[in-house]
Amino acid sequence: MTLHNDIERVLFSEQQILSGIDRVAREVTAAYQGRDFTVVSVLKGSCVFASDLIRRIPIPLELAFLAASSYGNNTVSGELEINFFPAGTEIDGRNLLLVDDILDTGRTLYALKRELARRGARDVKTCVFLDKAARRAVPLAPDFRCFEVGDLFVVGYGLDFAGRYRNLPYVGALRKEVFAAAGQP
Ligand code: 5GP
Ligand code: MG
Repeated sequence: MTLHNDIERVLFSEQQILSGIDRVAREVTAAYQGRDFTVVSVLKGSCVFASDLIRRIPIPLELAFLAASSYGNNTVSGELEINFFPAGTEIDGRNLLLVDDILDTGRTLYALKRELARRGARDVKTCVFLDKAARRAVPLAPDFRCFEVGDLFVVGYGLDFAGRYRNLPYVGALRKEVFAAAGQP
């Protein structure tokens, strides 16, 4: 048995993902041409996306991480917990590109963006791999995004269910038996 057996269908193949990232990397490159900036990857979900993205941006950048969790083992949006932030010197006066795996209600990035501004960032833009635009609960539109997805729970390419499936090279929907086995609706 492998993780592939738990996937009902593939929504974005590895090849589709990489061509979407090529496009976004060109947009980011054009936006930051001639300006210093720092890519701030939101752990854990965006680490796969951020690492493919930065390798397609051929201009100087710095890299930082922050950790926020809102989900636990559940698939319903919960409270945001900010576990750690970059050092003050990595934020103060910097142009930041906040990179996350998926924009759902938008509460996570909205709160993070506000907190980074409060800590002295000069400018904060957002870049997301997936956008569930129909689910937005706060006024936040990503500055850059790879793909829009409908209102369904997806895994792979950094996105997890109960801590697993982040290492799938594509994005897929889980079989309903997997949720049932984990005691989820
Ligand atoms: P928001 O605060 O925008 O509602 O939630 C964003 C976070 O929820 C994402 O960073 C991600 O961790 C989680 N999330 C939202 N939708 C999904 C999904 O379909 N699959 C997975 N694995 N995580 C999701
Ligand atoms: Mg996340």
